This record gives sequence, C-alpha cells and structure tokens, in this order.
Amino acid sequence: MSSDLDPSTVVVHAGRPERVPNAPVNQSPVFSSTYVAGGDRGYGRFGNDSWVALEETLGELEGGRGLTFASGMAAVAAIVDLVPVGGKVVAPQHAYSGVLALLDQQAATNRLTVERVNVADTDAVIAATVGADMLWIESPTNPAMEVADLPALSAAGRRAGASVVVDNTFATPLLQQPLKYGADVVMHSATKFIAGHSDVVLGAVVTADDDLWNAIELRRRSLGAIPGPMEAWLALRGLRTLALRLERAQSNAAFLAERLREHPRVSRVRYPGLPDDPGHARAAAQMSGFGAILSFELGGEAEGAQRVCESTALWVHATSLGGVESMLERRRRWPIEVPTIPDDLIRLAVGIEHPDDLWADLEQALKTLT
Ligand SMILES: *Cc1c(COP(=O)(O)O)cnc(C)c1O
Repeated sequence: MSSDLDPSTVVVHAGRPERVPNAPVNQSPVFSSTYVAGGDRGYGRFGNDSWVALEETLGELEGGRGLTFASGMAAVAAIVDLVPVGGKVVAPQHAYSGVLALLDQQAATNRLTVERVNVADTDAVIAATVGADMLWIESPTNPAMEVADLPALSAAGRRAGASVVVDNTFATPLLQQPLKYGADVVMHSATKFIAGHSDVVLGAVVTADDDLWNAIELRRRSLGAIPGPMEAWLALRGLRTLALRLERAQSNAAFLAERLREHPRVSRVRYPGLPDDPGHARAAAQMSGFGAILSFELGGEAEGAQRVCESTALWVHATSLGGVESMLERRRRWPIEVPTIPDDLIRLAVGIEHPDDLWADLEQALKTLT
C-alpha cells in the first residue's frame, strides 16, 4: 500500500486479501493447527493468515514488520529475552506495572540487571544508557503520564549500543510512531486501543530490523506465545475503527481534563494535552494528539479516591484501558503498583460516550468526597 496514505486510511485498508474476483474483503480467522506439507508454513505455531493480516496492518502503521503475540506481556517477555544473560536494562521508574514486575523477577534471579530512571529526565536516561543492552521506554507513562523525548533517547540508546524499545500502547500508532524517531522495536498491548472493545487479550511487536524480527519470531515460536486466530481477527476488526474511536475518546479526555482542573477537590491533573503539563511541549512535538488517558489526584485523599471509583454509574470501575467504554481506577489499589505513584491518583481511560454524560457521572462521584 502507498506509504503516503494517512494512518486513518491505513487502518481501514491494510491487511486485506488481494482484490480479485470473488475474493472476500476480509481475512477470515483460520482455524488450523497444521498445514499440508510442501509450503513454508509448516505448523500452526509458526504462522497463521489471521495473524498476518493484523501484522501487516500494524507493520504499515508503525513503519516496520509486525509480529502478534498471545498478550502484551508475551510480547514483552519475548523482547526482554533478547537481553544477554547478565546484561543491563534501563527501564522507566514509572511504567506498566507488569513490565516492571517482569524485569524485577529477572533481576532477582540474576538473569539481568535493571536501572530505573525517570524517562522525562533526558540527561538521567542518557547517563544510564552507558553499558546498557536494552533501553525500555514507555511514553506517555502509565499512570504518571510522563513524556519521554523519543528522538533524543533513541539516539542515545543507539550510541550506547543498546536496543531501544518503546511501549507505544498509550499513544497507539495513530498518534506516535517511535521507529520514525530511531527506536529499534515498538511494542503494543493490542488488548487496549488496537482491539478497542475490551474483549480480547493480545500483544504485538513491530520492528524494521530483519535480524531483530527474526530473533523475536524465533522466541514466539519456541516460547509458544502465539495468539489465537479468533483474537487476531477481533483485534483487526477493532483496529479498523481506531481513528474514529480515538478521535472521540481523545476529545472527551481533553474536555474532562479541563473540567477536572477547575474542580475544587482535584489537586492535580496529569494530561499532556494541558498547556501547562510538564510533558506538553514534548508531546506536541512528537505526537499527533495527546491520547485518551489521564490521571488526577485528590490532595492526598486515598480513601476518598477509592470511594469516587466505587461511586460511578457509567464509568466502569475496572483496570485496563483503550475500550469504547470509559473506565477508572485508583492505581495504588494494586500491590504491585510503584509506591511513588500517589495513592490518591485515579487513572481515567476515556471512552467514546457523550462527554456531558461522562462529566456528570464523574462530578456526581466526586461529591462523595464531602
Ligand atoms: C496492558 C498493558 C501491557 C500488558 O499487556 P497485556 O495485553 O495485558 O498483556 C503493557 N504495557 C502497557 C502500557 C499496558 O497498558
């Protein structure tokens, strides 16, 4: 497909069967554990056309070749497995808690060492990359919403000889394409915005480096972390409407960020779309939108924050993000969440409902604070 198409067009048209008479317009899920001998596919753990359709689409969006996985964490585990034994990983202080937990587990068995950095502090990250084998970046970070300087950090990681990996789950390939800024590997929890309907767990990797692609594919087949054909089909079906969903969810998030900022009980709103947010200038430079996730704090009232989350009618009190339905949670309700995340911080994963309904419900839940 022509590379000058807008990503909102690519999500609709990439990964389709060839247009020949009688061809279906969609790749159907292929339910087969093996293939007739004589071709290059061999066996169900090595490849499936349902994955390939999704991988082609994600590859085109990010500017590389895609690989889908059983979950975002399966993709993370395959990438982290590239680090040599005893190697060093530089990772964000704040990031998806499952990624940080995996790195801690591997550090505990001396499989590798981890140095945690504030990804918004470019000089600190650059200093930490000396001697590193992998630089793991998330931007914006979960749930602190810090923004990393992707071009500067990617260049520094490469200078240090480290593989630069970006978890692009929050931004989606529509808002940010890290490979363009020099990252080696992009990773997604496709469970979130890509699939978009809270009905699939799935992961993805994209890289433009054939050696890295081969190394990660080898791990997928040997670790067995493959997606199901139905999940891949659902994710691609969801991805077709990503541009529309994101447009609405993002404008809802911007509206809610402004409303929350004016609310007397809210002490801080974290959203890179707010002009005075510490990550605003950087996000404006490297993202084509500010996304649909934001966090806010309630002046130290952790119990109040928990009550707010339990008092909504429309907002779903649940973990996860990127679905059509809005969700909220107090992140520190999870014991594995990083202790430097304020315990009164509520993360909003904004969906596509009407903004007035979302605000009315949130405002009514905030009244439980008084
Ligand atoms: C959810 C998530 C993951 C993990 O993905 P799963 O699909 O749940 O395994 C990784 N990174 C981020 C930023 C996430 O939100």
